[in-house]
Amino acid sequence: MTIATKYLALWWRIVTGVGTLFFPPQCAGCGKVNTWLCSTCAETIPLLEGPLCPRCGRPWEGEGNCPACRAHLPAVRRLRAATLFAEPIRSAIHALKYNGGREVAESVRPLMAKAWAKWAMAGDLLAPVPLHPRREARRGYNQSALLATALGLAVNLPVVPDLLERIRPTRSQTQLGREARRRNVAGAFRVRRPSLVRGRHITLIDDVATTGATLDACAVALLEEGAASVDAFTLARAA
Ligand SMILES: [Zn+2]
Ligand SMILES: [Zn+2]
Repeated sequence: MTIATKYLALWWRIVTGVGTLFFPPQCAGCGKVNTWLCSTCAETIPLLEGPLCPRCGRPWEGEGNCPACRAHLPAVRRLRAATLFAEPIRSAIHALKYNGGREVAESVRPLMAKAWAKWAMAGDLLAPVPLHPRREARRGYNQSALLATALGLAVNLPVVPDLLERIRPTRSQTQLGREARRRNVAGAFRVRRPSLVRGRHITLIDDVATTGATLDACAVALLEEGAASVDAFTLARAA
């Protein structure tokens, strides 16, 4: 971390700290104060229901893979999510990413664990999708690593937070279409711990999956290093 990013991170923490003082966290579900997502609301969030595309986990009622997966077979073997990207999870994820709401990862742990069992997910280890180091320094943490750590404890699997690294900053994907998203993140990731990848069944963890392009770019890097398979599991699915 350079001096400049250290100061930036410090500044950001002061700004969010002061913000919390005047605008305390409020549950995204019921408005209760001093929590971003209370345990009562977290318990009522419905798990994602099938039928889904067997490959990308998008709600899909047809035979076999969905049209998007038939057009371009994802490198991720099986992508599943705990729930849909809808309220209150949408606001809770926003707090987790932009308002310092680290505790959201704890609030959603039971939800993620239930969905993990429901979709019969399995694997040797969990690896979060990494942020670019500059973004992680600014935020103070990687929200996907917090989710992976919470889930790893619940399902008793090792978590390797630095298995991958983001080697170039990428534009926000939100305004981009499917093809542009793929180009935006292609080659953006590199394996940092090759010895932990070869022959292993790896499950990537992220907060939200939309087209799955970011997860796929990670999977390509892992498969090139000899991973036996790469699945992905996210807190939410934007269909
Ligand atoms: Zn609540
Ligand atoms: Zn699909």
